[in-house]
Amino acid sequence: MELVKKSIKDLKGYNPNQVPYRIKLDANEGKNILFIDIAEGLSFGEDFNINFYPDNDALLLREEIGRYLDVKPANIIAGNGSSEMIELVIKTFVDKDEAIMSFVPSFSMYSVFSRIYSAKFIGVESNEDFSVDIDILIRKAKEINPKIILLCNPNNPTGYLIDKKNIKKLLAETDSIVVVDEAYMEFAEGSMVQEVSKYKNLIVLRTLSKALGLAAIRLGYMISNEEIIKIINNVKSPYNLNAITQHIGTMALKKKDKIIDYAEEVKKERDFLFNELKKLPFEVYKSRANFVFFKSDIDDLDKKLAAEGILIRSFSGDLHGYYRVTVGSRAENMELIKLLKEIIKNEKNQS
Ligand SMILES: *Cc1c(COP(=O)(O)O)cnc(C)c1O
Repeated sequence: MELVKKSIKDLKGYNPNQVPYRIKLDANEGKNILFIDIAEGLSFGEDFNINFYPDNDALLLREEIGRYLDVKPANIIAGNGSSEMIELVIKTFVDKDEAIMSFVPSFSMYSVFSRIYSAKFIGVESNEDFSVDIDILIRKAKEINPKIILLCNPNNPTGYLIDKKNIKKLLAETDSIVVVDEAYMEFAEGSMVQEVSKYKNLIVLRTLSKALGLAAIRLGYMISNEEIIKIINNVKSPYNLNAITQHIGTMALKKKDKIIDYAEEVKKERDFLFNELKKLPFEVYKSRANFVFFKSDIDDLDKKLAAEGILIRSFSGDLHGYYRVTVGSRAENMELIKLLKEIIKNEKNQS
C-alpha cells in the first residue's frame, strides 16, 4: 500500500500471544485482587449518565490518584493505559527527525512510537549483565541532545532498577524531557513521583495494569509539574478515558493497603521463582519487578511450555534465547518449574 507514510512502512505492531493456555505468565499482569470486591458494589443506575460524554478531566480519579501517591491532581493526567501516556508525551515534544533516547533492551513500544512519529530512536546499550551505566547515557545525551530520554524503572524486560540518585544525576546534566516509566514501581523502591515539582523536565508514568491487577480496564497516568501538564492537556484527545474505567479506577485506588500487601506477596514469590530458576541450567537475572528474565540454550523453550499450556515471553534479534516470565502464584510457579525440569530432561535424552 503506497499511500502509507514512510515511517511506518516496515513497522511491526505490538503482537501479544494469542494461544490457549492454562497458566498465563507472559504479560506481567497482576492477580485480580481488587476487582472482585469492586464488582459487587458496582451499580450503574439512572444517575450513571452513560449517555453523556465522560468527565474530560477525570477529576474524581485524579483526586484519588493524588491521595494514592500524595501529589496534587494538577500534577496528573490520566488516560487509556500508560501506552497512551507514552504516545502523548512523544506527540507533544517530538518533531520529525528529532531523537528519542533509551537504554536497550527496554519496553518495545518506545521505539515503535518513535517510528510512528518519525523520530530517531537511539538505543544506549546495557552492560552484559543488563545493568546500566547512567554516565554512558549522560555522555550520549550531551552528544546527541535528544528531545526525550525514556527510562523504564524497574526495566522491562530485564527487571533492573536504576538507583534514584542516578536519575537525579541525569536530570542535573540534561535539559531533555526525562520520562521515567514506573509501570512496575509498586514492586520496588525509588519512585521519582515526589520529585516532579522540583524539575522543569521530569515526567513519571504509572499504570493500573500491573500491581493493581486491572489490565483490562486500560488505565494509566502521568505525573509532572503543572506547566508540563498544562501543555500536554492541550494535546490530549477529548474524553480520552471512558467513564466506566474512571469509576473502577477510582474505587481501586482506595484500596492501597491491599495493593501494598499484594506487592509484598509478589516480591516473596519472585525470590522463590528466582531461586528455583537458578537451580536450572539457565542464566537468571535479579529482578525488582513482578517478572524474572533469564537465558536458556533450549531451542523454542516458550513453544515447548506453551504446548503444555504455560505462556512465557520470548524475544528475538539480539535477545534470541532470552525469556521473561511473570511471577505467578506459588502453585503456578511450581507448575512452571516442574514442566521446565521435564523439558530439560527430554532435551538430555535426545542429545
Ligand atoms: C506493561 C507496561 C506498561 C503498561 O501499559 P498500559 O498501557 O498501562 O497497560 C507501560 N510500560 C511498561 C514498561 C510496561 O511493561
